[in-house]
Amino acid sequence: MYFCDMTDKKNLWISMAACSVAALGILAVLLFGVKPFTAAERRIINQSGNVMYVTVMPQDSAVLRAVSVDLSARELRSEELKTLADKMLTTVQDPSQDGVGIAAPQVGINKRVICVQRFDKPGEPFEAYYNIHIDTLMGPLKSGREGCLSIPGYYGSVQRNETVVVRYVDPSTLTPVTDTVQGFTAVIFQHEIDHLEGILYTDRADSLWQTN
Ligand code: ZN
Repeated sequence: MYFCDMTDKKNLWISMAACSVAALGILAVLLFGVKPFTAAERRIINQSGNVMYVTVMPQDSAVLRAVSVDLSARELRSEELKTLADKMLTTVQDPSQDGVGIAAPQVGINKRVICVQRFDKPGEPFEAYYNIHIDTLMGPLKSGREGCLSIPGYYGSVQRNETVVVRYVDPSTLTPVTDTVQGFTAVIFQHEIDHLEGILYTDRADSLWQTN
């Protein structure tokens, strides 16, 4: 036997309202979709031309000093991410920049994407990495000269660990990957991952000097 009192009726109404809200939410996602990246990020990614504007200090300090966030699974699988990586790779290798690494905040996007020239691999290819973090810093500290596309006209002397273990996500399988990197390539990884934390090499430099 079932006895229905006023409390049951109230609960029923609350349940029906909750179901309606959930159904409307699902309908909205089906109709409009959830787009990867923010509208502002999509505008930057989809701008015409393959060489992107490189953010510089001090006028672009808001994006260069922000902490970047991981890409969502949807963003990792998106066409926008392929376009962003292609354009970042083109930008860092363009004669106007001629860099060895670039991070997404340097093109105005606070997401964890970097491109690094792998001097430790045959052919020294440029490669893109997603949702990258430093896992472990190892080995002795060594001083080396660094410059940055976002701080033109300067070099500095920075101490970095000789070896770094990085972890990132393979976008085709969404599986985590770890890689142990040494030498100059390890310095590039540390410099670029610093960008994702809003840290610039000038924060760590023992000394700075102008290029001319
Ligand atoms: Zn830099």
